[in-house]
Amino acid sequence: MQHKQTVIDIRNLSYSYVNEETSNRVSVLHDVSFSVSECEFVSIVGPSGCGKSTILKLIAKLLDNNHRNIGIDRSKMSFVFQDFALFPWLNVRENIGFGLKMKSLDKKSLDIVVNEKILEVGLSGSEHKYPHELSGGMKQRVGIARALAMSPSILLMDEPFSSLDMLTAEKLRIDLLNIWTKYKMTVVMVTHLIDEAVEMSDRVIVFGPRPTIVKKVCEISLPRPRDKRSKEYFDLCDLISKEIL
Ligand code: ADP
Ligand code: MG
Repeated sequence: MQHKQTVIDIRNLSYSYVNEETSNRVSVLHDVSFSVSECEFVSIVGPSGCGKSTILKLIAKLLDNNHRNIGIDRSKMSFVFQDFALFPWLNVRENIGFGLKMKSLDKKSLDIVVNEKILEVGLSGSEHKYPHELSGGMKQRVGIARALAMSPSILLMDEPFSSLDMLTAEKLRIDLLNIWTKYKMTVVMVTHLIDEAVEMSDRVIVFGPRPTIVKKVCEISLPRPRDKRSKEYFDLCDLISKEIL
């Protein structure tokens, strides 16, 4: 088997929030270590409030820390948010092209990328709509297209399908897996849904309750597309549930 390069390396990472009023420290992550390989799809699951978003924000440097414990090249990294985080005053095209515009890409090249992403995520016909005119699923398609427009080699996603209805979420998961297969990016996805993690990932990292440690790391070697009704699938979900509940 080909040896894959490590692209995210988290070593003995601990993190506390400091309550500004009381100056009390709230310990969230306690000595967390794991690594993610090139092109790997990794999910982090764990109980609510255990620090899943915190670790993703530390990886993305949206939260500050000394960062000595996180080895990563952030130059080609994009983020997909649970609540989409679209710019309400920009239309679909402008939202998707925002990052490229900030990088001063010329208009012609920008249009080419934006057109490609619109097709890829299935937003044709909605290019000129504003976020308030879009359904949740469409909004997250914009969020994903905006992330992809930057040609990331690492995609970080924080509960990207959690605010969507079940059918919309499933459709988007399948589309995202196809995009991942096409581009072979490294993906780190946070989710509280065990089933979603098993459906999508090569590896699931299970966090315990706060202060969080890595409780278990579970390889998912089932062939894709995965049969969600197979015994193997069910057994893996069950195994992970037992670690969390
Ligand atoms: P998860 O995403 O797993 O639900 P978070 O990473 O958002 O959990 O939060 C982990 C813990 O840290 C929670 O107990 C939360 O209340 C606390 N927390 C999150 N953000 C802050 C903050 N800015 N200041 C203080 N505490 C915070
Ligand atoms: Mg969270």
